[in-house]
Amino acid sequence: MVARIVAQLRVARIVDHNWSHHMSHNLSHNMKYFIQTYGCQMNYSDSERLVTVLKKLGYEECDHYSKADLVILNTCSVKQNADNRIYGLGEPFAELKKKNPKLKIGITGCAIRKCTGIRGECKEEIFRRMETVDFVFRIKDLMQLPDILRKLHHVEGANEIKDLLHYFDINPTITNIAQVFIPIMDGCNNFCSYCIVPYARGMEESRNIREILDEVEKMAKRGAKEINLVGQNVNTFKPSDVDSKSDETPFTQLLRKIDKVNGIDRIRFFTVHPKDMTDDVINLYGELKSMVPHLHLPVQSGSDAVLKRMNRLYTVERFKELAKKMRKRIPNISITTDIIVGFCGETEDEFMESYNLIKDEKIDLVYVSKYSERPGTSAQKEQKDDISDDIKKDRFERITEVMKDVSHEYNQQFLGKTVQVLIEKVDKGFASGKIPEFKVCRFPSDNQNLIGEYVNVKVKKAMEWCLDGSVAS
Ligand code: SF4
Repeated sequence: MVARIVAQLRVARIVDHNWSHHMSHNLSHNMKYFIQTYGCQMNYSDSERLVTVLKKLGYEECDHYSKADLVILNTCSVKQNADNRIYGLGEPFAELKKKNPKLKIGITGCAIRKCTGIRGECKEEIFRRMETVDFVFRIKDLMQLPDILRKLHHVEGANEIKDLLHYFDINPTITNIAQVFIPIMDGCNNFCSYCIVPYARGMEESRNIREILDEVEKMAKRGAKEINLVGQNVNTFKPSDVDSKSDETPFTQLLRKIDKVNGIDRIRFFTVHPKDMTDDVINLYGELKSMVPHLHLPVQSGSDAVLKRMNRLYTVERFKELAKKMRKRIPNISITTDIIVGFCGETEDEFMESYNLIKDEKIDLVYVSKYSERPGTSAQKEQKDDISDDIKKDRFERITEVMKDVSHEYNQQFLGKTVQVLIEKVDKGFASGKIPEFKVCRFPSDNQNLIGEYVNVKVKKAMEWCLDGSVAS
């Protein structure tokens, strides 16, 4: 294992060293790329590594797929509408290929499960469903992308990429210093009955603490203030360089170390699993300076019977206990969650249990999705997707309505107060970003230099989705 760590560090240095050489070597190609990312933070983080590989090959970014020679869709299979959007692009791509014969289309992310390669070399369902797709790759095979593009576009460079042991060893290209996502692990061992992730990404693999800290320190030196740690189930993070004499879980050890990094004063993480959340992580709230008053705790359903059919392996009571413990440490903490409506056999009563959970537990932000089958999952094989689209839509809207009420009430506490906003975006006369509680706050400004900076804002209006204010004097 030590050999693996040393090899990884060595290769990582080689990647840095060769950057400028390969950039200048390939600039003459002047090919344009466009990446469309769907889904969770993990996908966005993966796209940042994908950008590094494309830049090494000499591609340049463009702002719309119609101008590109290379389009890569980083897909999410959790929501049906993400799938539909991808298949809907088949026709526009066919038209664009008539205008630009160089155009190549690639797909990665959760839609790709079996293989990596160009059309005819590997069998993925997507080749059959979208005739315009030229190649696919599993994100963990990102190191093979230079070879694929060598065949399709005759580009050169990035030779060192294929010697890397893991795609995490590729340095990410961070585009917004206010939104830094650092993967700490990949894959999942849980097999929730509706989810494709364990099949698409494989079993859990954790990065080493040292490697993660190096990345955090690098980002802090570039001005990052907030770090988002990502992984499918961060509570079961198991690096090889953990302190085995410590009573604390490896994830707690990691959080303590990141908290000490100069310049980092906000840490968030996505996602925890209610069955694996530990007291030692909860006890860090209120103790470590960088633990923000926000926790995303995905419950998926407020009904024990549905949770059982989803194979989530905890009860609603467990979720409530965790929320209670969190609120004991930070009374005004914002707890956000995920809910799937219309899962196989969900009765009106079972749905109402989800509805009431959001209301009673005061969950102020819910990522709601309508259940849809994912081929290959156990729910698709063994259960019936028997709730009509109309009912799913109705339940989706009802959860959204109750969440709006809870969120509106929660946000009133900020009215008249001064909040600290980390600016992510300056657009159409407004600067906006998040406060520690994960709420978006905006104020009038055209100053692009504010991105990545803190601004103290006096809140004048507290709506469901957003706080409005002006710079505090
Ligand atoms: S915990 Fe469940 S929902 Fe989350 S990635 Fe793993 S299998 Fe999917």
